[in-house]
Amino acid sequence: VITVNKMNKWYGNFHVLQDIDLSVRKGERIVICGPSGSGKSTLIRTLNRLETYQSGEVYVDSILLGDDVKNIEAVRREVCMVFQHFNLFPHMTVLENLTLAPIWVRKMPKKQANELAMHYLERVRIAEQAHKFPGQLSGGQQQRVAIARSLCMQPKIMLFDEPTSALDPEMVKEVLDVMVELAKEGMTMLCVTHEMGFAKEVADRVIFMDAGQIVEMAGPKEFFDNPKSDRTKLFLSQIL
Ligand code: ATP
Ligand code: MG
Repeated sequence: VITVNKMNKWYGNFHVLQDIDLSVRKGERIVICGPSGSGKSTLIRTLNRLETYQSGEVYVDSILLGDDVKNIEAVRREVCMVFQHFNLFPHMTVLENLTLAPIWVRKMPKKQANELAMHYLERVRIAEQAHKFPGQLSGGQQQRVAIARSLCMQPKIMLFDEPTSALDPEMVKEVLDVMVELAKEGMTMLCVTHEMGFAKEVADRVIFMDAGQIVEMAGPKEFFDNPKSDRTKLFLSQIL
């Protein structure tokens, strides 16, 4: 469902993504790791056009992501992103956060949007918080709301950018549990995370990025037991 061919991106003179080649099949779960500043966020942000790129090609579901606004809108309907800092609207209740896009983007009647929202809130085990504001919830609860909000768009692909790294340790598991469930149900997922337990449990492939390049890409067993590149070995020795 995703094909990236020789994609390059610069910020001014800074070559942030270098000759990225990647193809992701339907239902695949990819974990992306690498040092700070290596381009992980930038890479996944190009997949829903939160960032542009300067050369190469990115196809999502055979739609070319370039300057064509129609294509950008089409891809955004299929690809949802969950961020490190949740990005919920603070002045709206949990339920309103979830129904906003279905009502305004999908033109869904309010009653149906509410039902959909409650369905996904139950799935992330937080239905009882529907009428609270985000600021009244814990970090782990807010992140589960953010995941439910993405699910309300019924995306084909979900992108996660360090969804647990802003959470207190005791809340990490409740969010990872939801992500593991999604993975096991066959959601196509690309997750930037340093939760290597998650990578071992659900990833089909693990990607290691450094300095704007994909340095290594392998199945989790191969990746952790027998990394090829010295940079990967060094990185793993620092985080494991
Ligand atoms: P982290 O683990 O800290 O989140 P990352 O791997 O996600 O890092 P990116 O956020 O993709 O890294 O950033 C890659 C590089 O691009 C960094 O050196 C960063 O400083 C630079 N960069 C990111 N956004 C911009 C921008 N808008 N303008 C210029 N440089 C940027
Ligand atoms: Mg990042």
